[in-house]
Amino acid sequence: MGLYINSGELGARKLAVVTGYCVYEKKKNREIKNPKQIKLKNGRPAVKGTCGSCGKPIFRIGKLK
Ligand SMILES: [Zn+2]
Repeated sequence: MGLYINSGELGARKLAVVTGYCVYEKKKNREIKNPKQIKLKNGRPAVKGTCGSCGKPIFRIGKLK
């Protein structure tokens, strides 16, 4: 017994899960893997990454915490 710490797991979970709408699957609340903060042409913040479900690019408006 005792604490089992998987450092790989910890690293992956350091950031809160970011979710977005997957246009390929037409599903909401898909996990955005490797989220990156980007800026739109109009200056608004957005988050870009890879869909955790289908692996296609995924995107959402808003800031990455
Ligand atoms: Zn997807």
